[in-house]
This record gives sequence, structure tokens and C-alpha cells, in this order.
Amino acid sequence: MSYTVTYYCPRCGTLASLEREGYLDDKSVTPYPLEGWTYAAPDESFDDADGVRFVCGDPRPGLTWETPPTPDDGTETTPAAPDHDPAETDDGDEPPGCGEPFYLSFIRFEGGEEVDPRSPSEQVELVDDESPSGPGGPRGPGGPDTGGFWG
Ligand SMILES: [Zn+2]
Repeated sequence: MSYTVTYYCPRCGTLASLEREGYLDDKSVTPYPLEGWTYAAPDESFDDADGVRFVCGDPRPGLTWETPPTPDDGTETTPAAPDHDPAETDDGDEPPGCGEPFYLSFIRFEGGEEVDPRSPSEQVELVDDESPSGPGGPRGPGGPDTGGFWG
């Protein structure tokens, strides 16, 4: 079953609509690849990949781009004149997208656990009891009446 999923370019906000089959959990969309992830092009089979490498604005089979509508509450570039620039509304002038790559990463599982790209594979070492527990700290073991409130 094929359906369309959409992503926003993390750089410029251009909307990518990608048709794909099957269900894969998306983890994140990032401007840079995650370490250890394998990326396929949008028109490749990414069954064996861990993510998809998009080039913003680069249309592929099954992949379309569109510039998201500008919110109306922006006051900085509101033209005073009511007349429209025809080049601004048509798609002949400027294609959507910034041309920069970004990366959709699927959730990876290894040994039944989700791989978290933010924590490298090093183990967290437990602190031994031998290590000094440090000074008592500014609060110390004293009572709860040492100025918890300012007023
Ligand atoms: Zn972009």
C-alpha cells in the first residue's frame, strides 16, 4: 500500500511530499545525516536503507515539492501596493526548495532496542563508592528553613 508522507525541509521549510510504500517509523528530519545511518535517494528502494536523503527542491518520481504558504501575519514584507507581481505567484520564476540536502531518518532497531543516534555506543560508567562524594554543597544537610523563599 502506497501513501504520501510529507516533510519540511529543516533549512527553508519547503514541503516535500513523498509517496512510499509500507510503514516505516520516522525518527527525525535533520539537515545532516546521522552517524551510522544509511540513506537512499527518494527514488531508490529504501527498504535496506535507514533513511532517505532529499535534495531540497529536487523532484523525483514520487517526490514533489511545494513552497508552504506564507503566513499572513508577517508584517515585514507586506507590500503597500495592492497590485500583484505575476512572477511571484507563478512557478516559472523560482522553484521551491533551497537545493540543500536534508535527511529523513527512520527509527532503527538493533537487538530489539531503538538505536538512539544521540548516545554513542559507549556505556555509561557507574560511579564507584570509592570516589569522593564531594563537599556538602551550599545547602548541606540542614533544615528546610534556609531561605527557600525570597519573600
Ligand atoms: Zn530547503
